[in-house]
Amino acid sequence: MLELNHVSARYNMLTSFVNAVDDVNFKIENNEIFGIAGESGCGKSTLLKVMYDLLDYPLEVSSGTVRLYKGRSETEYVETGKLKEYWWKEISYVPQGAMHVMNPVSRIESQFFDAVSRGNQDKKSRKQLREEIAGYLRELELSPDILRAYPHQLSGGMRQRVLIALATFLSPSVILADEPTTALDVVVQKDILTMLMSVQKRMENSMVIVSHDMGVHYQVTNRMGIMYAGQMIEVGPTDEIFNNPKHPYTQMLIGALPKVGDTSQKEGIPGTPPSLKDPPAGCRFAARCKYATDQCRQVQPQTVQVGDRHYAACLLLGQGTGGNKDGK
Ligand code: SF4
Repeated sequence: MLELNHVSARYNMLTSFVNAVDDVNFKIENNEIFGIAGESGCGKSTLLKVMYDLLDYPLEVSSGTVRLYKGRSETEYVETGKLKEYWWKEISYVPQGAMHVMNPVSRIESQFFDAVSRGNQDKKSRKQLREEIAGYLRELELSPDILRAYPHQLSGGMRQRVLIALATFLSPSVILADEPTTALDVVVQKDILTMLMSVQKRMENSMVIVSHDMGVHYQVTNRMGIMYAGQMIEVGPTDEIFNNPKHPYTQMLIGALPKVGDTSQKEGIPGTPPSLKDPPAGCRFAARCKYATDQCRQVQPQTVQVGDRHYAACLLLGQGTGGNKDGK
């Protein structure tokens, strides 16, 4: 559905670059929920924008391409720079912060009309579109009355549901969601995740969820990737990542999670990630890794296969032949 080929992206700060995404290489399959996890500032939200072709200055792709397969075809595709023509119909995006991305002076109905006008090739009348939107909201167990509301009249959870409804109304084959549960209480978080899963199940499309919350990935995703300092350092089936993590960073992330009945003291990950303006030459995790050697500080680890559809980049696991591969 969506294929990333050695994608690197950076923020152009005029006198310097922040290299937020470095040589990311993986593929999203049809009918799966793929999670992207990692600490704040690791590049996961930037990567999602690149996957959506949302490249506003200062963000730019420095190398590689994102390929979107049209109409779930296995051969026909469009690449970075052309994806905008397929927004809403083939690929849609649920951005972070529902309040800030909605037009505060526009009713929800107008926001739906603006969004679906791109996909309205059949030139349906406004009345017909309104009926279809109301019907879709009912399918999602939302009242069509919200169409008359302004964003500030809705709760945070309701705004997030509206954003998901907007993004999925035209049944896109790929949905990208950036931190869909951030700043919501746990009950609303559960409702939002349930809504996302039921939409994906009904449409049998592909969904990519970016979240720093490992609990979200555990509950929702089929496969996931772990990002560190702009690189995808491990990719695999979600249960493998949680039960058999291979990269030392992933092991520390999983080890720091609370578990039912486990009262032992949890350790955080010491130190901070490196600056992405001038990242270190070798493994970017070396300064925080208890297994680091001199070689780790000089040699960039390549991604190797460590299990069924499971890949990781650490010198302890051996050296492969390419960048962040995912067995495409
Ligand atoms: Fe640690 Fe070396 Fe592996 Fe990096 S390559 S994660 S520093 S052991």
